[in-house]
Amino acid sequence: MNQQIYWHTTVHMPDDSNLRPIPENVDVAIIGGGYTGLSAARTLAKRGVKVSVLEANTIGWGASSRNGGMTLTGLKPSMHTVIKNYGRDVAKRLFQCSLDSVDTVEQVVYEENIDCGFARYGHLYAASKQNHFDGFKDEVEFMSKEFDHKVRIVSPDEMGDEIGSSHYHGAIVDEVSGGLNPAQYVTGLAAAAERAGATLHARARVNRLERSGTRFLVETERGRVTADKILVGTSGYTGHITKKLQRKIIPIGSFIIATEKLPDEFAHELIPKNRMIFDSMHYLNYFRLWDDRMIFGGRAAFFPENASTIRRSADILRREMIKVYPQLKDVKVEYVWGGTLDFAFDMMTHVGEMDGIYYSLGYAGHGVAMASHLGKTVAEAMLDGTIKDHPFAGFDFPGAPLGLYNGFPWFLPFAGAWHKILDWIE
Ligand SMILES: Cc1cc2nc3c(=O)[nH]c(=O)nc-3n(C[C@H](O)[C@H](O)[C@H](O)COP(=O)(O)OP(=O)(O)OC[C@H]3O[C@@H](n4cnc5c(N)ncnc54)[C@H](O)[C@@H]3O)c2cc1C
Repeated sequence: MNQQIYWHTTVHMPDDSNLRPIPENVDVAIIGGGYTGLSAARTLAKRGVKVSVLEANTIGWGASSRNGGMTLTGLKPSMHTVIKNYGRDVAKRLFQCSLDSVDTVEQVVYEENIDCGFARYGHLYAASKQNHFDGFKDEVEFMSKEFDHKVRIVSPDEMGDEIGSSHYHGAIVDEVSGGLNPAQYVTGLAAAAERAGATLHARARVNRLERSGTRFLVETERGRVTADKILVGTSGYTGHITKKLQRKIIPIGSFIIATEKLPDEFAHELIPKNRMIFDSMHYLNYFRLWDDRMIFGGRAAFFPENASTIRRSADILRREMIKVYPQLKDVKVEYVWGGTLDFAFDMMTHVGEMDGIYYSLGYAGHGVAMASHLGKTVAEAMLDGTIKDHPFAGFDFPGAPLGLYNGFPWFLPFAGAWHKILDWIE
């Protein structure tokens, strides 16, 4: 089995064969070349701003070319929790933002003619336990009443229309969500940002960031640039140069396997409507088809990707996949890879300005749509001076309780064990 990102075999990813020199001055320097940074760069460049994206590796190297491609409505915390914590009005604005985020992806793909297979396939939220399904009926009414958002129950009898598996107790379908090929999408987004006039710099890790009068001095491994404004879009790879942000973000590994290409009809039986599927466990699995391959992901190990967590995840994910689809037991798994997600301590996404530095972080596994949308809207707010009015800027960005975190997530094994216990009892 290849420890290689399957999506990268489907497109010519941006590489480092033609490195541009780092400019001396820009209006805005963006740190991180994923959906957040590229979407912001495209927006700013279209408004005539001189903008550069500084990326430590190659453009699109991070989670943006490794993910499941699920372009989802909703936030990571349940909307019940969001209402409880922030009230109805804020919750409504945030949920609307999640709907707008899928629209943003659709619009960018259309405007920039990005060939990434985006379509509104809908998502299927599958109940792993009977008591989870029992709660789904209330959920459908709640989403309709509070957010005027129509989702639909799939009863156990109807599950055969949605999935070739008897593993689940029923589901909720949300037709608004979509799916795409993440590597093709990020490659297209990078090309769009460049066409708009942004400059993209691979192998330009930012090693130091400091104020210099009214501007910022940004020291990269290939040279220095000064900028009026800085946007941080480093997600799960946020490091010491933005220490205060690093201490608010927990990097968590997520892993995916891709099977060999399956016969067309067999693949179709597994997920007849090409839905994006995820289950209702804390230690959740998510899966979908692409080009007749089963793409099956999960939080198989909590620590970020390395050769060992990837190897272990391959075995765990294969076992999980066969639990859901026993008919895949003789199918070859050809690829396995991992990437790092960014979780805030409250599991919410946060945007804002800290010490004059703008940021958009904490997508908690919802970044395909949200990072694309917030990259755009934070860029607009930076220019218009309205960041405080952004829906995701209106609440606290908490750090670790008692400040017991310096960027190394020592507590992940405990959090992993805690999630396993929750899955067992809830
Ligand atoms: C395995 C996996 C599956 C996922 N599945 C889904 C899914 O199905 N649906 C969904 O909505 N979301 C999913 N996600 C989450 C989603 O991919 C992310 O939320 C999204 O890609 C974040 O985009 P970003 O641009 O903010 O960060 P990234 O794409 O991670 O980019 C951050 C970049 O910052 C760079 N960087 C870090 N430090 C520096 C520095 N000092 N100088 C310069 N550059 C730096 C890194 O090299 C990296 O390329 C998944 C994530 C993973 C890992």
